Amino acid sequence: MLELRPTCEHCNKTLPPDSLDARICSYECTFCMACVERVLGNVCPNCGGGFVPRPVRPSTNWKGDNFLGKDSASTKVKHRPVDPATHTQFSAKIKTISQEKR
Ligand SMILES: [Zn+2]
Ligand SMILES: [Zn+2]
Repeated sequence: MLELRPTCEHCNKTLPPDSLDARICSYECTFCMACVERVLGNVCPNCGGGFVPRPVRPSTNWKGDNFLGKDSASTKVKHRPVDPATHTQFSAKIKTISQEKR
């Protein structure tokens, strides 16, 4: 189950579970759309993978208790800002490769 982390790892912007602004990598590293585009160049600083929009967990119990009321979002903040110079170096080669080929 997705952790639904509460903030952007880089800028610490709040990303509530219903946010359409949240982006995740396959390891659930979580960033806001602006940081993914402007700071990260769609390269995860932790694994080198690309990002996709994070799905919104339903807040309504439509079926079988599979909803936010039972499986709440994480409240554990992970704030690990990226150093732009380090990331530029790390991502230089990776960002030229489309994410399905990394
Ligand atoms: Zn951000
Ligand atoms: Zn990652």
